Amino acid sequence: MRREDSARRRPCSSKLDAVVRFAGRPQTKQRLCAALVLVLAMACAARAQESAGSVSVYDHGSQIAPVTFECTPGHKAETHLITLDSGAARYTFRYSGCVDPSHGDLRPSSEGNFGMPDPMPANWYWGGFLQVFVNGTDAIKYRQTDMRVIESGARGGLQAIWAHPDADVGLRLLLLPGANHVLAYLTWKPRPPATVNSIAVHLRCYPSFFTAARGRQGERHCKTPRIDKGEPETLELVPSEDTWLLFYDAIFDKAKGEGEGPCAALVVPDAVQSGKVIIGDYAVITQIALKPEAGAARLAFYDFAGLTNAQAEEYMKTHGAEDLRQLVETDFRPEPVRLLQLDRLKADVGELLTQAAEDAAPLRPKVDDLLARAAALGAQADSGDWKAEADLATLLQDSVDLLWKLRAFAVLNAP
Ligand SMILES: [Zn+2]
Repeated sequence: MRREDSARRRPCSSKLDAVVRFAGRPQTKQRLCAALVLVLAMACAARAQESAGSVSVYDHGSQIAPVTFECTPGHKAETHLITLDSGAARYTFRYSGCVDPSHGDLRPSSEGNFGMPDPMPANWYWGGFLQVFVNGTDAIKYRQTDMRVIESGARGGLQAIWAHPDADVGLRLLLLPGANHVLAYLTWKPRPPATVNSIAVHLRCYPSFFTAARGRQGERHCKTPRIDKGEPETLELVPSEDTWLLFYDAIFDKAKGEGEGPCAALVVPDAVQSGKVIIGDYAVITQIALKPEAGAARLAFYDFAGLTNAQAEEYMKTHGAEDLRQLVETDFRPEPVRLLQLDRLKADVGELLTQAAEDAAPLRPKVDDLLARAAALGAQADSGDWKAEADLATLLQDSVDLLWKLRAFAVLNAP
C-alpha cells in the first residue's frame, strides 16, 4: 500500500523501481536493457503526447468564509473557483452561495451563483452569468452535488451538478488547446416523480465595460448572423439562423480606446424552442427556452478581451459556423472514459498477467480490483451518472502506474 502511494507521487521512479528490482535476478543483462529502453520509450512517447498542445487546469478548491455581500451578516458562503487555460485564453469559473443551514437546499448569492471572473469581470458576469430555470425556478441557486476538474492535458474540462428539487442539472465546460472559447454541455435529468415541464437558460453579460456602475453611458448591441439590434430593444431570436450572438458596445470599443472588448455565445439550435435578447442600457440578458424532452443543450462562450468590435465580428463571421460544427460534434466525456474499451483492457491485462508469470502475483489483486471497479462505474456512467463517469476517469488515470509495472514485468519475463 505504502509503495503504491509513493508510486502515485513519483510515477517515473516507480517505473524504474519495477525494472531495477530485477537487477538482482538471474535475467540476462540484455533483457534488462531491453525492458528499460522499452519502458523509457513508452514514457517519453506519453510525455510528448501530453506536451503537444495542452490545456492547463487549476482547481482553486472550495472555501467557506463569512459572507461579505452575498447574504445575511453572520452567514457563511462557499466559493469554488476552477481555471482553464488553453494557452490562447484563460477562463475562470466561480461558484458561490450561502451555506447557512437556514436556507435548506438553497444557496443564496446576491450577485448570482455561477460566474466567470477571468478573463475579465465584465462581459460574462464574474458574479453570475448563468441561470437555468427548471419549472420556473433557478437550479443554479440550489446546492451543488459536484464540482470538479474532469480533464486536463489534451483538453481541459470541469463539471458541476446542481440538485434542483425537480431535476439534476449538470454542466460540463471544456476548453480545447489553443481555443479562444469554452464549449458547454448542459443536461437536465428529472428526479422522479417530478417532471421537467419547462427549462430555460438565462445568460447575463455586460459587454466590454460596467457602464452604469462607473457612471458612463454606452450603446449596447447584440449582433447575430442575421441581424444587429441596439439598446433599448428586445431581439427575438430565430434559433436556426441566430446560432452566434455577439454582444458589443458601440461606445466602449477598443478601437476607440474604450472598454475591454466584446463577448459572444454560440447556441446550437436543436434543443432550442425560442429565444430573446433583452438589450438593456447596462446588462444584456439572453433568455433561451429549451425543449424539456431534449435533455441536453450545447452552448459556447467567448470573451474577446483585448479585441476591437470589428476584430471580434470578423472572427465570428469567419469561424462561427466552423466553431458551431465542432461544438455539435464534441464528445464531453473525459478522455480516459472516451478511450476506454473495457473488453479490450480485460483481454490485454489478462495476457500481461500471464506473461508476467510469478511476478504477476502481487499485482493480480490490484488489477482485479481495477477491472471490477471500472466495470461497475462504467455501467453507472452509461446510465448518465456524471459523478460515476468522473470517478471512472480518475480510476483509469490513477491506474496508469499499475499498468506500467505490469507491462515491465511482462517484458522481463518474456521468453
Ligand atoms: Zn445566507
